[in-house]
Amino acid sequence: MRLISIAAIVSAAALAQDRAVIQTSAILDGKGGTLKNQQIVVEGGRIRSIGPGGGKADYDLRGLTVMPGWIDTHIHLNWHMDANHKSIAGGGKPEDAALYTEADAWMTLQGGFTTVQSVGAAIDGPVRDRINEGVLPGPRVLTSLIQIQGAGGGRGQQHQWTVDELREMVRKNKADGADVIKLFATSGLGAGGNQSMTDDQIQAVCGEAKAVGLRSVVHAIGDAGARAAVLAGCTSIEHGTFLKDETLDMMVQRGTYFDPNLLVLHNYLDNRASFTFTEQALKTLEDGLAPTADVLRRARARQVKLIFGTDAVAGSHGRNAEEFVYRVKDAGEKPMDAIISATSLSAESLGLGKEIGTVAAGFQADLVAVEGDPLADITAVRRVRFVMKAGKVFRNAR
Ligand SMILES: [Zn+2]
Repeated sequence: MRLISIAAIVSAAALAQDRAVIQTSAILDGKGGTLKNQQIVVEGGRIRSIGPGGGKADYDLRGLTVMPGWIDTHIHLNWHMDANHKSIAGGGKPEDAALYTEADAWMTLQGGFTTVQSVGAAIDGPVRDRINEGVLPGPRVLTSLIQIQGAGGGRGQQHQWTVDELREMVRKNKADGADVIKLFATSGLGAGGNQSMTDDQIQAVCGEAKAVGLRSVVHAIGDAGARAAVLAGCTSIEHGTFLKDETLDMMVQRGTYFDPNLLVLHNYLDNRASFTFTEQALKTLEDGLAPTADVLRRARARQVKLIFGTDAVAGSHGRNAEEFVYRVKDAGEKPMDAIISATSLSAESLGLGKEIGTVAAGFQADLVAVEGDPLADITAVRRVRFVMKAGKVFRNAR
């Protein structure tokens, strides 16, 4: 599928305006560098050059801070609010699901995110494909299409999947067009986060994913499930609320990415009326905030490869950038670290490190520009004024 996705990206780029010159006063390049007073020349959807320039520009972004288009490595593109502002997470009428999924994609792109990983639902596939064809507006979408659990079968007949069944599930997921494999190594936060797949099951899924050339991202709240996933060579740990220091150290040694998510907890609490939480569940979510900030701090101190994901559910699409604010304010991240996390490092984690996530010649022309300086005031990420994806402008609101 990777070949097909890249071909589609190229065809979308061909639709974009062939050449554009962008005048900037401040660029954060996504790798930790800052560039002043540069012109970016975009051609055929890619950054052709960056230099002092001097000629006439098509877009004047002076006074804004320009960054690589942001990347969110964990969203649920199809989860949305209905007309009564109640959360719908799958189900509903198919035509509603399709339209809401596309609406979420549009809002996410307008919010400055030019690439997302949805983990994931079947409807993501056609939405991804229409976006890649350039006929619907949205971020570049990578999706798992399904979520793999240790047991299933439906109608209450909880069958523990065998290792062979799980491997077959991964191969079918790949054949169906998945860009990534999503699995649940533990239960949810509310249920305690205990390991919910055996070590053998986790090894089967992540091992088969690797064998067919896909990455594997693992929902893991508690330490035991996360540790099993790290040992199984899975690509990334999502949430990781209760990871122990030893597991974080193991992730550094093995190059496992870590994707903690703060926005999702705040979003549930802020929009509690839209969900069906009991008082007990709300307390659990509230109690999850401090350990999430704490594990982020401990991971940062150990130089774990921290990527940027929001676990965006209903109510979060379009305001994914709030994760930056929570990271800096709740977890004490340096703004530059959070920006590198959401750009070059997340790109690397998706296997797209040479394509996106950096403002440099040769990369896809994915740019976001905000009013103000996010290094001085992280809330600048809320003031998105310009969004370009693969050379095509999707927002220009100065
Ligand atoms: Zn999620």
